[in-house]
Amino acid sequence: MERVDVAIVGGGPAGTSAAWKAAEHGASALVIEKGVPRADRDHLGPDSTDAAGMLDYWVDLMDFDPEDIPEEIILRRLDGADFIGPSETLTIEDTSIDASYPDFGFAFHRARFDDWLREEAEAAGATYRVGDSITAVETDRSGDGTRAQTHQLTLSNGDTVESEYLVLADGPQRTVTTDVLDQFLPGSRSITDHLNPRTANHIAYQEHRRVPDDIYEPHRLKFWWGYMPGHTAYPWVFPNDGDVARIGLTMPIGLDIDDFDRSEWALLREDDDGIPRGGEYIERLLELVYPEYDIEDFPLVEDRGKQGGTETYPISSTQPIESPTAAGIAVVGGAMGGTSAFHEGGDHVAVRTGKLAGELAAKDCLERYNSAWKDALGDEFTRNVTMADVVHDYGPDDWDWAFGTAERLLNRGEYSWWSILRSGLSGYRMVRLYNSTKDTFRDGGYVQLAESEYET
Ligand SMILES: Cc1cc2nc3c(=O)[nH]c(=O)nc-3n(C[C@H](O)[C@H](O)[C@H](O)COP(=O)(O)OP(=O)(O)OC[C@H]3O[C@@H](n4cnc5c(N)ncnc54)[C@H](O)[C@@H]3O)c2cc1C
Repeated sequence: MERVDVAIVGGGPAGTSAAWKAAEHGASALVIEKGVPRADRDHLGPDSTDAAGMLDYWVDLMDFDPEDIPEEIILRRLDGADFIGPSETLTIEDTSIDASYPDFGFAFHRARFDDWLREEAEAAGATYRVGDSITAVETDRSGDGTRAQTHQLTLSNGDTVESEYLVLADGPQRTVTTDVLDQFLPGSRSITDHLNPRTANHIAYQEHRRVPDDIYEPHRLKFWWGYMPGHTAYPWVFPNDGDVARIGLTMPIGLDIDDFDRSEWALLREDDDGIPRGGEYIERLLELVYPEYDIEDFPLVEDRGKQGGTETYPISSTQPIESPTAAGIAVVGGAMGGTSAFHEGGDHVAVRTGKLAGELAAKDCLERYNSAWKDALGDEFTRNVTMADVVHDYGPDDWDWAFGTAERLLNRGEYSWWSILRSGLSGYRMVRLYNSTKDTFRDGGYVQLAESEYET
């Protein structure tokens, strides 16, 4: 049996960052990644979700300098984003959060990003094994004299690996995380009460399509809100390389169309007998937004992604959980519910939580992990969870109200009393609602399962 200090389940950005930092701080670190084939990668690699946008301040949250990011992973510099409601649009050129990255952000090649993290981890001395999945983990809390506890991991090829620390980085599917954490929850409680992939996740679908020159905006992100039903359900366009854009959408899993008034939503039709599939939604969006073009003017680019230019993934869309660090376990990235469907953002959270877990495991002080990620990412979680809560039941008219008010209120990214006065009662209501909701999530109130609830 192979023995390592830190074993990591899953080799996405979270797991690879954990391996990188664990190795850099002197631990033996092994990543086990089940491996997924892609049209744009000539070997098996992690399940890179290929819709990748990075905002300026996320670079700081990942604890990178802007110069650390290799040029070859950046596809486009971004200047701003448009949030388009049924009749109001909010345009922003500034995230309004201090950042060392000079532009609004960048769109990047996610498979190359993941491959770069892997190279860094391997250069630091970590081992990255791809092609077999972890099928079971057994934890022995009694340790073996030199190790505080041991985890025995079984691979699909029958091999076993033993480690002192376990980093769970298996993404929002939580193929291993669920069983591992359940053993520490009392009675019949299960981690799926909090992080059931059917309810805690959204589904994201995207297509790579060429876009006619005169409507392609290569430096802007575009989001349409109030067009399709469901909590945080929206289509988007991310610029990619050349004239190619990734056109996709995010929506909750398992919606029932009869819960919605079809006439209220621009992308539904009266005769829909179910929620449209991702591809259908995208065709409807393009027809609606660019009526002077036919769908054939946006040809699918088939040599990208995972399935003829299209990709479907789950995305974690919930509040994060703490880890049972007393058992030598850290849950990181998407597995901990630490990403947000609200703005698709998660790579920054994945990288930072991974880095922290890897470093603290290597230094034998994993018990500091929960407070460390809250210190590093608490403001980001508070913002995301607050926004998702505030807009939870928004319909098309609410989005128009919000975008119209925010457009007047934000004054190019700055809250000021002057702008509040100018936007009148509507702006006051918006700021008050946001702040009062935020108060409920402050100081770690966004955590949905605390370490104290585990029996370790
Ligand atoms: C369509 C879409 C668009 C997105 N856009 C953005 C964006 O623009 N910007 C952004 O920051 N974030 C974005 N995200 C979110 C981002 O992709 C996630 O936050 C990020 O991938 C989480 O990283 P992770 O390492 O935690 O998990 P993942 O990237 O999901 O990696 C988990 C890995 O674990 C492996 N694995 C799972 N089970 C096992 C097992 N049993 N044994 C071995 N290996 C296993 C999987 O193969 C996978 O490679 C997007 C997500 C989606 C779905």
